[in-house]
Amino acid sequence: MTPEDNKPTLKRDLIILGSGPAGLSAALYAARAELKPLVLTGMTLHGQASTTDTVENYPGFPEGVGGEELGQLFQTQAERFGAEVEMDQATSVDLSKQPYIIETYGKKYLATSLIITTGADPKKLNVPGEKEFTGRGVSYCATCDGWFFKNKDIVVVGGGDSAIEEGLFLTRFANTVTIIHRRDELRAGAILAKRANENPKIKFIWNTVVTEIQGDSAVKSVLLKNVNTGEEVVHPTDGIFIFIGHRPNSDLFKGQLKLDEHGYLVTNKYMETDLPGVYAAGEITDPDFRQVITSAGMGAAAGIQATRYLGKLEE
Ligand code: NAP
Repeated sequence: MTPEDNKPTLKRDLIILGSGPAGLSAALYAARAELKPLVLTGMTLHGQASTTDTVENYPGFPEGVGGEELGQLFQTQAERFGAEVEMDQATSVDLSKQPYIIETYGKKYLATSLIITTGADPKKLNVPGEKEFTGRGVSYCATCDGWFFKNKDIVVVGGGDSAIEEGLFLTRFANTVTIIHRRDELRAGAILAKRANENPKIKFIWNTVVTEIQGDSAVKSVLLKNVNTGEEVVHPTDGIFIFIGHRPNSDLFKGQLKLDEHGYLVTNKYMETDLPGVYAAGEITDPDFRQVITSAGMGAAAGIQATRYLGKLEE
């Protein structure tokens, strides 16, 4: 008998996978309907938003609010109404029959309803040196690692809102922040682009990709390639922050739920997946908006739908 077989089996009406704005908003609504939802937090407590320094576009906080603080506020509010938040992660799910089976490292759950809010993870460049130097100069989180680059010269890869917003944040610490973008214009919105253009610490290298990350015990340089001319140069740097988009955390659901061609879970406007009682909300189903408020809104909708579903079953 393997240790797996000894896992305690617990029955829950509603399990929510993920603890970002979508998961905790779903938990709030379900908890207020007295469903006592269980939230399995996943690896990133409070989700990606909690790694953002300041959230300036979540209504109700005119001066902005720290990402971590906002996540904690979401959790406290959901717990106040009876949501249970457990630091654990689903390692497998079986949605082939009801009740649905969710296994974590130490437990096995049978759930009548499930809300999936497992979000998305930062995309990797997949170039030599990236894996080796992660944590030694390669980072995907400015809030987590920016402090280590006080008075250093660093590069940021990407041209979207994340790259520019995080690049601006990094100017608090770094001496220079060089943004390397594969095209000759930013994807980021006009306000962020203007702020970046006006910041004396920010420089741009256009039409360029990073093909290798080099160093010894830590990053020392990046190999850059101009996509138009093919010319390669070694660019000395103390660190590289990569913000080139996200990959949805949907591997657990492959073959069990409908995914789109990029791996996002497909839902309708009621946040329903193709299985009864299984909902998805937030970035796992949203390649477009990816905002705290839109994720929270989808989470609330999923919480309401799960409540209706469980109510009908009870009837
Ligand atoms: P994104 O908008 O998809 O931008 C990704 C950037 O990385 C693009 O500039 C893309 O280049 C580049 N890129 C992608 N793959 C690459 C590769 N392999 N090598 C080099 N460059 C690569 O992702 P995001 O910036 O993370 O933003 C995601 C969503 O969140 C967006 O909807 C954004 O508006 C939103 N967001 C909003 C805020 C805010 O409003 N304050 C802040 C952060 C994020 P191309 O431009 O050539 O495609």
